[in-house]
Amino acid sequence: MNDIFQYIDAHRDRFIGELGALLRQPSISAQGIGMTECAELVRRLMSEVGIQARLVPTAGFPVAYGEVPSPGARRTVLIYGHYDVQPPDPLEAWETPPFEPSIRNGRIYARGAGDNKGQMFAHLKAVEAVLRTRGKLPVNVKFCFEGEEEIASRNLPAFVSAHRDLLRADLVYASDGPMHPSGPLVYFGCRGLLYLELAVHGAKRDLHSGLYGGVAPAPAVRLAQAVASLWTSLGKVAVDGFYDRVKKPSPADRRILRAIPFDERSVRDDLGCLPVTGAGGRGYYRRLLLEPNLNVAGLTAGYQGPGAKTIIPRVASAKLDARLVMDQDPDEIEEKIRAHLKRGGFGDIEVKRLGAVPPSRTPVDHPFGKAVARAVAQAWGRPPVIVPNLGGTIPDYLFTQVLGLPSIWVPYAPHDEANHAPNESTTLEGFVNGIRSTAAALFEIAAT
Ligand SMILES: [Zn+2]
Repeated sequence: MNDIFQYIDAHRDRFIGELGALLRQPSISAQGIGMTECAELVRRLMSEVGIQARLVPTAGFPVAYGEVPSPGARRTVLIYGHYDVQPPDPLEAWETPPFEPSIRNGRIYARGAGDNKGQMFAHLKAVEAVLRTRGKLPVNVKFCFEGEEEIASRNLPAFVSAHRDLLRADLVYASDGPMHPSGPLVYFGCRGLLYLELAVHGAKRDLHSGLYGGVAPAPAVRLAQAVASLWTSLGKVAVDGFYDRVKKPSPADRRILRAIPFDERSVRDDLGCLPVTGAGGRGYYRRLLLEPNLNVAGLTAGYQGPGAKTIIPRVASAKLDARLVMDQDPDEIEEKIRAHLKRGGFGDIEVKRLGAVPPSRTPVDHPFGKAVARAVAQAWGRPPVIVPNLGGTIPDYLFTQVLGLPSIWVPYAPHDEANHAPNESTTLEGFVNGIRSTAAALFEIAAT
């Protein structure tokens, strides 16, 4: 890889400048700002490095699709990323404006620097480096860069289903999310999500609790009882069958979990308290990554201002999010929660679904995973931390379940990238080593 790594070093400053141009172009999907311009810019940046690129329309913002065929290559890699960004608000909290990239302390600060333009652009520069030094890629490469990741990838399921042939590949390689605090990271999927809203309705208006207390329905009390019934006093989810499909970690998973460095001090600093798993980190990553969780994200009822106000609220509501692991199914879990409420005498409670994404995993000992880990080690000069999957949720099931491909995720942004927040940044080191990682991965995959 020496010739390729030398090319990357020699062109480093130009690459950083070009990334700056991409970051200067707003692409706020939630507000529809700059999306067409950014899609066109991404298509052009792809074409400039020798990728056959075009914009494929969806019901929302287009997918920037590209291909570099490599005659005679055995393997095809599908690279996923997204060119849209989160809104930059609150603007006054930025040290430099979000769409005027600024380099300081070895980082480039801008909205999208980490999530996901810096990571996405690294793949393009890797293709450039390999093509300019070797004349061809060791594998066929396809690119699927969507413009709606930050708005829940609304049209990606339809795009993927409609373009199965176009997206045919041996694996998906993607860079999103932050690295581990200790450095490079490889992960293999994510927990799924089920988001529900519960509501209990009482009288048609808020009531005086002295004039009606004891005779009018009390939605807040019923909601509290219903919500509390979802857990045992030990904190386990009490919904019948909730854990039915949760498998014990495989031996490979257990090995990997044991090897994840646990830094108690940084977890404590981050939380401002000890995690519920206690000191020493035992079970921390198993609970976070391989076990499901049910959470109350919001509880709302009645008077919330200062001082006393004696009312019986007319409505009470709760937002619940469940993080699901393999092979839990969001539809089935929702049914189980509904059945649990009904059995507990809470059949009148309104349950509304606000979102659902199935969990997704590729086995951690998949041969392509090992190949990618070797590539990342070459790029960084040290082995990556391997985790089975993210605790959070990404649309990975589209690749593993709809396309039936293994998928391997290698983030290039630092753990403190501040994505979705003011002063988002990525490290120049992560960007450059990301370019090296993608380039090395293409060769390791070709040899697998
Ligand atoms: Zn994001």
